[in-house]
Amino acid sequence: MTTTAAAPPTFTLPPLPYAFNALEPHIDAQTMQIHHDKHHGTYVNNLNAAIERAPELAKKSLDDLVAGVATVPEAVRTAVRNNAGGHWNHSLFWLWLDPAKKGGEPSGALGDAVKKSFGDYAKFKEQFTAAATGRFGSGWAWLLHKDGKLAITSTPNQDNPVMEGTRPSHVLLGLDVWEHAYYLKYQNRRPEYIAAFWNVVNWAEVSKRFDKAKG
Ligand code: MN
Repeated sequence: MTTTAAAPPTFTLPPLPYAFNALEPHIDAQTMQIHHDKHHGTYVNNLNAAIERAPELAKKSLDDLVAGVATVPEAVRTAVRNNAGGHWNHSLFWLWLDPAKKGGEPSGALGDAVKKSFGDYAKFKEQFTAAATGRFGSGWAWLLHKDGKLAITSTPNQDNPVMEGTRPSHVLLGLDVWEHAYYLKYQNRRPEYIAAFWNVVNWAEVSKRFDKAKG
């Protein structure tokens, strides 16, 4: 029997761009390791498995798969929705967390837009926290650039605003509120995890996305 090299997988798990313990004590190392290696890794593996069942999807970018999920063949649509969504969301989530743990408020053009859109930073934080706390079950809270302003929304499961028509570049920030993101350290206390998130939010990354989105 001759063997041929297997085709490389369509999508691969990006490495976490900092150490698992880099966000301690706000997000613990064990949570980060399991979240990145196991949860995100499984979304990537399951997405590749779905694409093997619908090989015409292999030439699509991750952005296009997510944006066009409604047109994916029905046999793999749910798998693509959950796993392309999971891969897209987590690939950005790691970048939205800051190992420098500077926290604080956004400055510059983003800081101005927060004030213009929400009144002040405290009101923004309150509304984003409410969206994250109030998402029933598993899902995400989001900050978007929409109609020239900033807007807050939330989605269930591994859905995201791109599936609802938002351009990928206009998704500025997302917070994972699945229990797997916090249960080891915070158990059922999602509000404590959300409060801790503000210490590690990467405003430099959010600002970079905002500058691109506003053009
Ligand atoms: Mn997650």
